[in-house]
Amino acid sequence: MEMHAQYQSTSSSSSSSSSSSCSVSTVPLSALKKQRTQDREHLQDNGESSVMKIRHLRFTEFEWTDVEDRFDRLATTTRNGTEPVLKWSDFGFCIGMQKSLEFANDILRALRGRRQHKNFITKHQLYGFWHRMTDPCIHSRIQLFFDMCDTDMDGRITEMDIKQIFLLSASANKLTVSQEEAEEHAGLVMEVVDIDNRGYLEPYQLQILFKGSSPSIFNAIPYRNGQYQDDQEQSSKAEIMFRSHWRRGWIILLWLIVCIALFSWKFIQYRHRTAFEVMGYCLCTSKGAAETLKFNMALILLPVCRNSITWLRKNRRINSIVPFNDNINFHKLIAGGIVVGVILHGGTHLACDFPRISGSDHSIFRQTIASRFGYHQPSYIQILATTEAVTGIAMVVLMSIAFSLATTWPRRQSPSLPRSVRRVTGYNTFWYSHHLFVLVYTLLIVHSMFLFLTDNLTEKTTWMYIAIPVLLYAGERIFRAIRSGFYDIKILKASLYPGKLLSLKLHKPEGFSHKNGMYIVLQCPQISPFEWHPFSLTSGSRDDYLSVHIRTLGDWSYELYSLFQEAILTRANEYPKIYIDGPYGAASQDYIKYDILVLIGLGIGITPFISIIKDIDDGGVQKTRFDKVGSRERKGPLKTYLYWVTREQNSFEWFGDVIKEISKPNLKQTAAKEMHNFLTSVHEEGDARSALISAVQALHFAKNGIDIVSRTPVWTHFARPNWFSVFSKLARTHGGAQIGVFYCGPSALARELERLCTNLSTKTTTRFVFHKENY
Ligand SMILES: Cc1cc2nc3c(=O)[nH]c(=O)nc-3n(C[C@H](O)[C@H](O)[C@H](O)COP(=O)(O)OP(=O)(O)OC[C@H]3O[C@@H](n4cnc5c(N)ncnc54)[C@H](O)[C@@H]3O)c2cc1C
Repeated sequence: MEMHAQYQSTSSSSSSSSSSSCSVSTVPLSALKKQRTQDREHLQDNGESSVMKIRHLRFTEFEWTDVEDRFDRLATTTRNGTEPVLKWSDFGFCIGMQKSLEFANDILRALRGRRQHKNFITKHQLYGFWHRMTDPCIHSRIQLFFDMCDTDMDGRITEMDIKQIFLLSASANKLTVSQEEAEEHAGLVMEVVDIDNRGYLEPYQLQILFKGSSPSIFNAIPYRNGQYQDDQEQSSKAEIMFRSHWRRGWIILLWLIVCIALFSWKFIQYRHRTAFEVMGYCLCTSKGAAETLKFNMALILLPVCRNSITWLRKNRRINSIVPFNDNINFHKLIAGGIVVGVILHGGTHLACDFPRISGSDHSIFRQTIASRFGYHQPSYIQILATTEAVTGIAMVVLMSIAFSLATTWPRRQSPSLPRSVRRVTGYNTFWYSHHLFVLVYTLLIVHSMFLFLTDNLTEKTTWMYIAIPVLLYAGERIFRAIRSGFYDIKILKASLYPGKLLSLKLHKPEGFSHKNGMYIVLQCPQISPFEWHPFSLTSGSRDDYLSVHIRTLGDWSYELYSLFQEAILTRANEYPKIYIDGPYGAASQDYIKYDILVLIGLGIGITPFISIIKDIDDGGVQKTRFDKVGSRERKGPLKTYLYWVTREQNSFEWFGDVIKEISKPNLKQTAAKEMHNFLTSVHEEGDARSALISAVQALHFAKNGIDIVSRTPVWTHFARPNWFSVFSKLARTHGGAQIGVFYCGPSALARELERLCTNLSTKTTTRFVFHKENY
């Protein structure tokens, strides 16, 4: 439909007072559209800076087609039966602000100005509004923002107006701001911008205010392909992949070689046995698979011997060639090998060997394997009833239960289940069902003692394979039980934080020592004497106490929070009893190896890095390395970057004290550090909903050195970080360096970051080495 309506400036009162250099005139809509296209082309031709201006102070992300599409979906009523119209309350949805309707309504009020408030909007009115909101001219958009603040439309905005719009912006961004804070911030704006003390602001002053808060580096995209290609030596993707994965690679290769060698050895051995005449290659296959099964049933226990791994990690040489951080992945890989072994061994027995034994020619049976069966050719059912077959089948059933309950789906806790049921579902289902392996190992020993074709004791080798790993694992479990009972844990302080976070400060038991980045496991007998939950230590290795921060996630952490909450609220004489065990090694422990360190924590994923950053601040890394090496050689990170990304503003309170402490100038600190907070609930910098917050944040920071969002000296960026920009900036700043990237958070971002590390390592001279915590 061709629209010939006239678009009138809606800010009748304020446009007169505008200092804008862009005029808003009365023009036909079609002409406006044409003019609009020309404006955009002109700005694009004029380069990036103009485009940046368009991005700054955005009222909507939508193109007209998106707005029009939403209008067409919602416009059902008609005026005079001809023209479709939209309810004013649907305006927010049309411009993509359905989650900030109050803010959108204020924009609409500003767009309509003094004009009569009707309950509906026509399409051409909407186009006019969209046109003003997306006006390429920044002055025009500032004028619109001014009109939003200027509720009485007298062309002036007062301190009260600023306070109101600040509160509105805060609520649109899920920020908690008290009336007093809003007043203080509005006062600060007036103090800085109303230099003549007139008690009100005009549009040009708003422009001054916004100038100081342009989009940060983290949301811009400074990296261009080829930027690093000139004189720098680059590596191929294969080289980077090799460097990143060689430690995993050699372990997997070795494992495969051993499995294949064992399989082939037994395969060939049974190829020359008389039983081959009855069962053929089925026998060779099942026996080959059985040999790998023995090996894998032994090996699978090693990656879960946490104490042994923690102890081995201490040896720098072993730690540099064995990928200890992948212990659980390796455990799963071996489990996969066992599944393959069971299918081959059990499958060929059931589907091929047993039918061939029962169905073979009597004379061949008598000449070959009759003596193994008491000179009686058994039927298929009789074979199934033997100890060997029964134990074998029982093992397969138990393993199938344990394997399937260890997969992701059953481990996910369903909040809709009753609490009593939840106690044994989710992670606990996996954990308890995994203990079926005690039975499996017992059956395995019995199975191995009753082999069909083997009388010779020296050939019954299963126990030889599994004896040491089983003893080691059993020893570990006994050691854990004894050690945890030995630690006498006194709770020095328990604190509750927003977001249902419990922080415990514990007395450090005698003889307990840990490295930064390690974790402990915690048990609360009042909840369950069998459940041990891992938590990163947030106290530094040189602190004389231990601390953990526990986020309520499922039933156990919820009950723990409730128990401590009750104890705190009722001022009980004693806190609930807890036991600890550990410390255990984790990926972040390796931070010491790097000159440049990048620590990335999402939400509670910041915990492993708190002790690290505390220690770096304290000069601990340097000191330890000097003492050990005994020379003045400089070791440990030269610079540390900490990125903390969280969804809720109140998360910053969890470590507010620590962050304030480490942000203070510190003479002991020998390495530089740079900390960044990211709050994803706040709209991206440049969005009109966060524009005033950004401006006040900058003023407040400049004046007091405190960020108004985190209430700490660490600056908070809005929305998600542009990781590409962050990493390309790091690559540029630290060309030629090896950067250790440590991440703790959901696995989706882990994959993205790992890809980014590999890509930038191939395109630049900087080597990013990615590590992730397996939470
Ligand atoms: C090395 C490590 C360090 C951790 N550090 C912290 C920390 O500093 N702060 C924090 O709040 N959380 C931390 N976690 C996560 C914490 O252990 C779980 O949130 C907690 O166990 C949840 O238990 P739940 O029964 O309340 O929740 P559930 O809903 O039962 O479990 C939620 C998820 O937590 C994991 N989980 C549950 N029970 C266990 C267990 N016994 N052992 C291992 N994982 C389990 C599972 O992945 C499960 O899917 C850490 C986890 C690991 C592995």
